[in-house]
Amino acid sequence: MDHKILLSESDIPKKWYNIAADLPTPMLPPLTADGTPISPESLAPVFPMNLIEQEVSTERWIDIPEEVLDILYRWRPAPLRRATYLEKYLDTPAKIYYKDESVSPPGSHKPNTSVPQAWYNKQFGIERMTTETGAGQWGSALSFACSLVGIECRVFMVRISFDQKPFRKIMMQIWGGNCVASPSTETAAGRQVLDANPDTPGSLGIAISEAIEAAVSDQSGKTRYGLGSVLNHVMLHQSIIGLEAKKQLEMVGEGLPDVVIGCAGGGSNFAGLAFPFTQDKINGADIEIIPVEPTACPTLTKGPFSYDYGDIACMTPLMPMHSLGHSFIPEPIHAGGLRYHGMSPLVCQCVVEGLHTPQALDQMECYESALLWARTEGSICAPETSHAIAAAIREAKKAKEEGKEKTIIFTYSGHGLMDMTGYDAYLSGKLSEYHLPDEEIARAEECLKNHPQAEQRKTGKW
Ligand SMILES: *Cc1c(COP(=O)(O)O)cnc(C)c1O
Repeated sequence: MDHKILLSESDIPKKWYNIAADLPTPMLPPLTADGTPISPESLAPVFPMNLIEQEVSTERWIDIPEEVLDILYRWRPAPLRRATYLEKYLDTPAKIYYKDESVSPPGSHKPNTSVPQAWYNKQFGIERMTTETGAGQWGSALSFACSLVGIECRVFMVRISFDQKPFRKIMMQIWGGNCVASPSTETAAGRQVLDANPDTPGSLGIAISEAIEAAVSDQSGKTRYGLGSVLNHVMLHQSIIGLEAKKQLEMVGEGLPDVVIGCAGGGSNFAGLAFPFTQDKINGADIEIIPVEPTACPTLTKGPFSYDYGDIACMTPLMPMHSLGHSFIPEPIHAGGLRYHGMSPLVCQCVVEGLHTPQALDQMECYESALLWARTEGSICAPETSHAIAAAIREAKKAKEEGKEKTIIFTYSGHGLMDMTGYDAYLSGKLSEYHLPDEEIARAEECLKNHPQAEQRKTGKW
C-alpha cells in the first residue's frame, strides 16, 4: 500500500478547469450598487484585464502559461498521501487520502493562485500589487510570488493576526513584501473604522477596503489589487489541486472518491479539490462534497444567500453569495483564514444547487482532531486545515458504523508551524466552544435586506 502517491513533473496539468462551463444553471452576474450587472471594463482600475477575462470566462479549460508552470514546479505536483496511521487508529474500513498543499514554500495552497496572479499582472505592465491578509498566509504567498516575478507587494494585515502571528509578517519581509496592520491610518477606509472603534481587532472586510483603495488611488495606474480567495479566477487557479488528485487516485487504482472535503474560508482550497469532482457529480457520479466552516463563522450553513459586498466599505461589486453581512466582525477564533463574512459565489451556487453539502464544526473538536492527527500522521496542521481533518474523522467513523469501505479525500491546505499561539491557547485550556448566536444571523439579515434579491437557481436534481 502506498503512503504517498507522486506524479512526475511531466504529468502536471497543463490547463485549469473552469466549473462555470458545467454548472447546471448559469451564474447570477455581479452587480453595481444600483443593481445593474457590472461590465468587465469597470473592474479595470482594480484588476489587470487578462485576469478579468478569466474572471468572466465560461471556457471549460484554460491553458496554464509555460512560465507559470516553471514556477509551480518548485513544489508541484504536490503529493497525494494516504493517512494510514489515522485509519489504523480509528479502526475504520474507510480509506483516507489527503492532498498535501503544505509543501509550497509559504506552506499552503495559496501560491497556486498568487503565482499566476503576480505573473498576469507583470505581463500587463503592472509594477505593484496591494492585498489584504487574515492569518498572514495570503500576504506571505503573494509576497513570495511577487518577488519571483519581480514586482512590489503591499499587504494590509488584519490587526488581530498582525499581533497574534508576527512570524508571518517577517516571512513577508523576507520575500520583500511591505506589511501594515489594518485598519491603518493610510487609507480613508481605515481611518474611518479607527475613529469609530480604535480597539477593533480588524477584519478581512476592512483590510480588503484598504487594499482596494490603495490600488485604485495610485495615480500612476501601475498598481492593482489581488484577492487570495472568493473570486472565480482564484477558484480556476486552484483547480490544479483536484486535477492532480484525480490522476493520483487513478495511479493507485481508485475510481472516484465517495467523499470530498475541504475547509472553507473564502472557498478556494475546497473548490480547488472539489470542482473537478463536482464536474463528475454533475455528470452523474455519486459523491458527497463537503465544505467545512467554523461554527463561529457559519457562512454557508447559516448565512442568507443574497447579494452582498465583499468588503465593509462597499468598494467591491455586489456578489451573489451566502453572507453574514459585509459589516460582520467575527470573534477572534484562531483559524484566522476561516473568518470571512462571504464565500466564493461559485461554491455558493453549488450549495444552492445541492451539489455541495456544507458542515460547521466547533474549534474544540477541530483542535482535538489536529492533535490526534499530529500524534498519528505526524504533521502539525494549520488551524484552518483542522476543520477538514475533523470532518474526515467524522466521515471515517460513520463509514465504520455503516460497515462501508468508503474513499475519503480532503485538502491538507497548510501546515501549522506558524500558528503556535492557537495551539498554545488550546493546550493551556484557554479556548472554548463558540457558536455564532442567532442574534448575529438576524443582524446579517438586517444588513442584507436592502440589497438586490439573489434568485435561488436550482434544477432540483441534487
Ligand atoms: C487561507 C487558508 C484557508 C482558507 O482559505 P480558502 O480560500 O477557503 O481556502 C484554509 N487553509 C489555509 C492553510 C489557508 O492558508
